[in-house]
This record gives sequence, structure tokens and C-alpha cells, in this order.
Amino acid sequence: MRLVIMGPPGAGKGTQAAKIVEKYNVPHISTGDIFRQNLKKNTPLGLKAKEYMDKGLLVPDEVVVAIVKDRIMQEDCKDGFLLDGFPRTAPQANALDEVLEEMDARLDKVINIDVAKDVLIERAVGRRVCKNCGATYHVKYNPPGREGACDVCSGEIIQRDDDKKETVVKRIEVYLEQTQPLIQYYKDKGLLANINGQQEIEKVFDDITQSIGREI
Ligand code: ADP
Ligand code: ADP
Ligand code: ZN
Repeated sequence: MRLVIMGPPGAGKGTQAAKIVEKYNVPHISTGDIFRQNLKKNTPLGLKAKEYMDKGLLVPDEVVVAIVKDRIMQEDCKDGFLLDGFPRTAPQANALDEVLEEMDARLDKVINIDVAKDVLIERAVGRRVCKNCGATYHVKYNPPGREGACDVCSGEIIQRDDDKKETVVKRIEVYLEQTQPLIQYYKDKGLLANINGQQEIEKVFDDITQSIGREI
């Protein structure tokens, strides 16, 4: 199954993606995670991405497209994958169409998580992540069992550099300008599942699995 999950910063993509890949047993490809993992290792890619991420801007298309192309052509993506946070611009969506065509494959569903702006800010600013494994928490809505320690790996829980309020506001602006138009693009292709993201995490997940189940 080939899936895309999209939505504004803080909508709950990563949270839902973790549950989707567990249920459907497909690789989770998060471009944000790829950049953060590279930054942790101080690779040239990580350092380049950081310049944009810290300002709330998108990493240039050619950089992101090359990474995603390379990743989805790997053996473990042969039968499916979940793209999380990609595509985010029209050129990225076109590049994805091209690479799928080369693979003689097509997307099964594009899941769009819909959340109002004030809620997004509260979610992103209250987000905490595990420094070690990247698991996502929220100070109020999804705290770890033991304060400051990851439920999965006991790693340290930290705040992302780009989750400061000013940067979050900028990221939402960038989303509205560059990413939101893709909703119509996928609607026109008949692939869109619009999901109300302002519900309990489990309810959002139920709606997602139902929308996938109807088609596959
Ligand atoms: P995204 O990947 O879209 O930026 P995340 O999955 O990281 O979003 O979620 C953003 C923040 O909101 C996290 O702190 C997460 O724990 C929290 N969150 C996610 N889904 C919900 C929800 N349905 N209700 C309340 N908080 C949520
Ligand atoms: P969120 O969904 O909360 O904004 P992500 O982890 O998906 O968080 O992305 C974090 C940052 O990584 C983005 O603000 C952007 O700078 C960069 N990034 C991630 N995916 C892409 C992409 N497809 N194109 C360009 N930049 C990206
Ligand atoms: Zn962890």
C-alpha cells in the first residue's frame, strides 16, 4: 500500500504515521526525521537542512526530491510505503508522480489531517520528542509515562529547535502558501481522504483506517 500523510505543522502526521506503519507494516518515510537524523550525525545534508528548518522555511525541492527518490526505490519499499511530510510543494508532487510512473506504481491514498490554526500552534509549541528515537509526545495531550523519559527507549525528552512559537507561525504561513494547494491536486486525482484532526488520537486513527479500508 502506497500512502501519503499530509497536513500543516503540528496536525498530528507523525503521531498517526507511527500507528499506520505498525498496522499496515510499511516503511515510514518522514523527510523531517531524515533531516533530523542527518543533523544528529552532523552530515552535510543535515547541516544544510538546518539552515532552512531553523527559519521555518522549506528545504529546497531538489534536495528533498533526490532523497525521497532514492529512498522509495529501495527494496523494502517495493510493496508500499508511507510518505510523511512529502510532498510539500507542487514540484515535489510532480517529481513523486514521475518516480511512481517509473516504478509502474500508483498511490492508494493521500490522507489529509485537518486542524485549525490556533490548535496547531498549541500542539507544536507543546510538542516534545525523544532525543534518541524521535518518538513524539505532548506536554498536555500525550505526556510520557515517566516525566522526561521516553516510553519506547527511556531516552531524554527534548523540545525541537523549530517548535518555538515564532518559527511555528512561520511554518504555518509557508504551509498555507506552498503545501495547502496540494489538497486540491490530490482531490482532483480522486486520492484524497480528508480527516478531522481535532479529535482524540485514537479517533483520528480510526477515521484514517476506515478511509483506507473503504478503498483497499
Ligand atoms: P506533525 O507531524 O503533523 O507536525 P505531530 O504528530 O508531531 O504532528 O503532533 C504534534 C503535537 O500534537 C505532538 O505533541 C503530539 O503529541 C500532539 N498531538 C498529535 N495528535 C493529537 C491529537 N489528536 N490531539 C491532541 N494532541 C495531539
Ligand atoms: P512539521 O510537519 O511539524 O512541520 P516535519 O518534521 O515534517 O515537521 O518538518 C520539519 C522541517 O523539515 C520543515 O519545517 C522543513 O524545513 C523540513 N522539511 C520536511 N519535509 C520537507 C519537504 N518535503 N520539503 C521541504 N522541506 C521539508
Ligand atoms: Zn525514545
